[in-house]
Amino acid sequence: MIKQFRHAAALASLAGLVATAPVHAETYPAKPITLVVPFAAGGPTDVVARVLGAAMTKTLNQTVLVENRSGAGGTIAASYTARAAPDGYTFLIHHNGMATAPALYRKLPYNPLTDFEYVGQVIDVPMTLVGRKDLPAKDFPELLTYLKAQGDKVNLAHAGLGAVSHLCGVLLRQAVGANLTTVPYQGTGPAMTAILGGQVDLLCDQTTSTTPYIKSNSVKLFGVTTAARLKTLPDTPTLAEQGLKGFEMVVWHGMYAPKGTPKEAITKFGDALKAALKDPTVAQRMHELGAVIVPDAKQTPAGLQTWLAQETARYAPIIKAAGQFAD
Ligand code: ASP
Repeated sequence: MIKQFRHAAALASLAGLVATAPVHAETYPAKPITLVVPFAAGGPTDVVARVLGAAMTKTLNQTVLVENRSGAGGTIAASYTARAAPDGYTFLIHHNGMATAPALYRKLPYNPLTDFEYVGQVIDVPMTLVGRKDLPAKDFPELLTYLKAQGDKVNLAHAGLGAVSHLCGVLLRQAVGANLTTVPYQGTGPAMTAILGGQVDLLCDQTTSTTPYIKSNSVKLFGVTTAARLKTLPDTPTLAEQGLKGFEMVVWHGMYAPKGTPKEAITKFGDALKAALKDPTVAQRMHELGAVIVPDAKQTPAGLQTWLAQETARYAPIIKAAGQFAD
């Protein structure tokens, strides 16, 4: 048994050596790069990843392959990335869920603050509270009346405990005092399909997914979650101006790699990300979807690492007050 153990340990250390073989800047990337998305295809995180992936493929002259690994509010994908070979060929795009998971999951199999290399922040995205087309409430005041009358008969879709759609739902429930029933999906792509099919009543989701449905009048729009109204939806009041004083949720996004990923790879991938965010086509697309590209100083490893630490500290008491663990 001991002999086998030694053999396995020797293989593991060899694998470790191979995995962290130095990346030579002039040849990296020598093969396609995987960009892990923690939610199902068709949702806002997936939309952003595919727009950036296509632009970065051109700059890196190598395919950036989007891989959807959904489940558990994004923690399945983060855990997978933390354990992936740190060879410069696996990256993760994730949002506030990276900061909320430590407070939500008592047995989180990774530490967001120590198990990753940080590439940089990407975009900030507002959220919108939308409802199925035939929901009997034409605006937010009528929705409040409906929620008070119907209580837990009203359901709200989300992308799993730890997803921002779930967090928005929890904050909404607290703010209006409504006992909404929440319904989890593998991402808010499938959740939006359920809204369009009339299977669920409400969804709080990023404009990077909801904008086309709002513009085509396929859903009811009750408000935006930002402190100020959006330039892309100027006639839509914020939830704060409609009585939910101080209600504010913005979805920020970061790019991560497994701890130990060579600096050359982080730098080259990060430079391609910055170039993508400066690409006029990408900038136009992000604008159309209500997304705000973060300033250059935030598009850096330090910019993301500092922000993540601050947000993790900020969310801890908020999640504790909500009194809901995911495991
Ligand atoms: N909007 C989802 C969430 O609530 C993420 C996604 O499906 O892209 O986190």
